[in-house]
Amino acid sequence: MRAPVAACIGLGSNLADPVAQVRQAFAALARLLDTRLIGRSSLWRSTPMGPADQPDYVNAVAMLETGLAPLDLLDALQAIEQEQGRVRDGTRWGPRTLDLDLLLYGETTMNDARLTIPHPGLCERDFVLVPLLEVAGPEWPVPGHGRLGELPVPAAHGLERIDA
Ligand code: ATP
Ligand code: CA
Ligand code: CA
Repeated sequence: MRAPVAACIGLGSNLADPVAQVRQAFAALARLLDTRLIGRSSLWRSTPMGPADQPDYVNAVAMLETGLAPLDLLDALQAIEQEQGRVRDGTRWGPRTLDLDLLLYGETTMNDARLTIPHPGLCERDFVLVPLLEVAGPEWPVPGHGRLGELPVPAAHGLERIDA
């Protein structure tokens, strides 16, 4: 078995009761094989990044300690998306019941056809950086970008914490 690695997952939902979707996803992440859920952020509301004619999003970040290899973890994340009714109709950044992005996997960098780590959107998205800071803290290394706390947080998506 591989030595456990800390991996950070970005959660997003804007369909079919997004708060419930995100909570259900935290529970599903906690049940993954060879994996412990070791941190979860607050829930945040954000305005959509893609087409504007879709509901606001609920976002959060989970921190896992996992023995799964990166591509096995991606498979597991996509299985959870499917279980929670994710439909891909080809619209980029279209509405979804659940999106799970692998943001960071230890200090690994990777550029596979299916998987880029760190996640390419990480540095530009307030709805990723703000909850990630909650769970990982400012000293957390972001490969290729220094420490998490050194990254500027763009104020782009009207981010609001949900007291839920
Ligand atoms: P974005 O990746 O810009 O946030 P998205 O989440 O809407 O957009 P998806 O349709 O969920 O994009 O995923 C498209 C593909 O991205 C996936 O099939 C997966 O193979 C690939 N991918 C590459 N890197 C990652 C990563 N770090 N985490 C999750 N998926 C990734
Ligand atoms: Ca995404
Ligand atoms: Ca995704």
